[in-house]
Amino acid sequence: MSIFVADVSKMYGIQKALDRVNLSVAKGEVVALLGPNGAGKSTMMKIITCYLPQNEGEVKVCGYNVMTESLKVRQMVGYLPENNPLYPDMYVREYLEFVAGIHKLGSKAKTRVKEMIHQTGLEPEHHKKIGALSKGYRQRVGIAQALIHDPEVLILDEPTSGLDPNQLVEIRNLIRKVGEQKTVLLSTHIMQEVEAVCDRVVIINKGKIVADAPTHELQLLNMANRIIRMEFDKTYKWENLKDIAGVAEVQAEGEKIVRIFVSSEEDVRGRIFRFCAQNNWIILGMGYEDQSVEQVFRKLTFES
Ligand code: ADP
Ligand code: MG
Repeated sequence: MSIFVADVSKMYGIQKALDRVNLSVAKGEVVALLGPNGAGKSTMMKIITCYLPQNEGEVKVCGYNVMTESLKVRQMVGYLPENNPLYPDMYVREYLEFVAGIHKLGSKAKTRVKEMIHQTGLEPEHHKKIGALSKGYRQRVGIAQALIHDPEVLILDEPTSGLDPNQLVEIRNLIRKVGEQKTVLLSTHIMQEVEAVCDRVVIINKGKIVADAPTHELQLLNMANRIIRMEFDKTYKWENLKDIAGVAEVQAEGEKIVRIFVSSEEDVRGRIFRFCAQNNWIILGMGYEDQSVEQVFRKLTFES
């Protein structure tokens, strides 16, 4: 396991920021920690990277304990903190060499900095001061410094927040490329980011994990509560549809459209069709409503 988090709780004074969190990330996985502001994402990441101690539970990175083997953990982990703190007066190359020095890369430092500048696409800007870079290029510097000691695990705290749409796409591409070789845990509150970059999503809300699933399965989490959308030629007595086995709720949407909430996992469309035919209701259209990951997320975080 690259990241292993067992029953971790964290208090800030009397406030519980993390409440018995469990999380395992296997080597090579790219996982999103998704949740609204204040959910506990940054706190979780600070604990994994040894910047904050947990109050309860155990955290290991590549088998090393964050409390008792923090030097080892720091070697295994690269970290891009939230808001990417950088030194605006330093030149890109100078800064990366400085970080390489912190990691005691010695004679390897110069080559490694060069490799990082290449890998993160910083070549056109590497001679500039960090303060003169666009936000997108600053994020590249942040990712380059996180990767400089070639860690196995990369922790990225909201790596795309504040970027414009073009920069966003570029940084996501970079993360995807890096993710081919590293274990990545990134935090975000943006749904599209998860779908674009991550294999798996862990949803956190108010310090608790509320879902953990492969990205493509997230929609299926909601299977027991699917919605069928039907269009008719006019209004009928929609509430009668509730007599059909498996139909939980019926909701009219305007004069001709009705949304049917299904409570069973079987396909009830056949039964609905027959019911309508027997009553001479003229169906113009019928299909499952696409539940976006976004809707599932809302459900899991705000309604639970
Ligand atoms: P996220 O990164 O998901 O937005 P955080 O981990 O930053 O969430 O915060 C989780 C909760 O802990 C929030 O309610 C936040 O206000 C609180 N918190 C975070 N850092 C501190 C701190 N240093 N002192 C007190 N409360 C904090
Ligand atoms: Mg945060």
